[in-house]
Amino acid sequence: MSENVIIIGSGPAGLTAALYTARANLSPLLISGNEFGGQIALTNEVENYPGFPDGITGPELTELMKQQAEKFGARFETDQVSKVDMQVHPFVLETENGARYETKSLIIATGASPRRLGVPGEMELTGRGVSYCATCDGFFFRGKEIAVIGGGDSALQEGLFLTRFASTVHIVHRRSELRAQPVLKERAFENPKINFVWDSVVENIEGNGTVNHLDLVNVRTGSKSDLPVSGVFVYIGHYPNTELFKGQLEMNEEGYLKVDERLHTKIPGVFVAGEAHDHIFKQAIVSAGFGCMAAMEAEKFLADLEHSGYAALKG
Ligand code: NAP
Repeated sequence: MSENVIIIGSGPAGLTAALYTARANLSPLLISGNEFGGQIALTNEVENYPGFPDGITGPELTELMKQQAEKFGARFETDQVSKVDMQVHPFVLETENGARYETKSLIIATGASPRRLGVPGEMELTGRGVSYCATCDGFFFRGKEIAVIGGGDSALQEGLFLTRFASTVHIVHRRSELRAQPVLKERAFENPKINFVWDSVVENIEGNGTVNHLDLVNVRTGSKSDLPVSGVFVYIGHYPNTELFKGQLEMNEEGYLKVDERLHTKIPGVFVAGEAHDHIFKQAIVSAGFGCMAAMEAEKFLADLEHSGYAALKG
């Protein structure tokens, strides 16, 4: 039997799409990926999601979104989609757990993942001092010196969070000007546990089993130095999780999916919501808004489909 709508991804975009399509009586199926909640679930404190004046943790926020969607009949599967065929209709999805689904409409909300530095030592020492999630791993660095790489909102927000555990947080940035928003800059400059290392990039992550130090290069002077740290948290941006759709959907050179202003792809019935296409705003609230839009368009598509049939919609 064919599903009305399958949503791939469980971040704010996917969860909001699940809520809206559930309230439209479409009984959506959300395939969550192996890690529920997407990037926001890796964030310790969310202070700018409207409706939570005292802030809320990322995991709590996504769990509440899930409960709200479930209340109206959304169904959830913990699984990873491994193949999608959009050349046929209903579309066919296969998963890592061996499930096969057919669906009349598809909302892609696969979001984005943290970028890696791509330096020697990074892969080998991931989980042994190299981390991309302060919320998950900060606790292991109580009383230790650590580094955070990056100069954007994530680097500063997570760097500030890490001062709860670490003795010193060295924020290593490749320029001498931060990209982060003023409120975070102020807090970071005021925090005595934060030390900025300007104009510097990581050349090497050194350690025997666990991280021992970073080899840094000053990009202005070319001088090299060691930064002794037990941990390094990398916050240098993200890349969209769109590999699965290569060859079937249009994307830009960075891999962000191309959509029109109503979040339609070139394939009728396939919509995209959140950071799989949004390379500009990248905020949880914006992704949630896109999830709502994609759900409303999917609902309209399904009504048209029932009325006219797929061949007519494909034109
Ligand atoms: P971002 O804004 O793209 O910042 C990435 C940082 O990493 C930049 O400072 C960049 O340096 C640096 N960088 C990039 N590639 C690098 C490399 N290979 N080596 C060293 N440094 C590198 O990413 P983000 O901080 O993850 O934020 C992503 C989006 O989420 C943004 O729109 C941000 O506003 C949003 N966000 C918001 C909040 C909040 O509202 N509280 C929290 C987190 C994230 P340059 O500055 O030199 O380019």
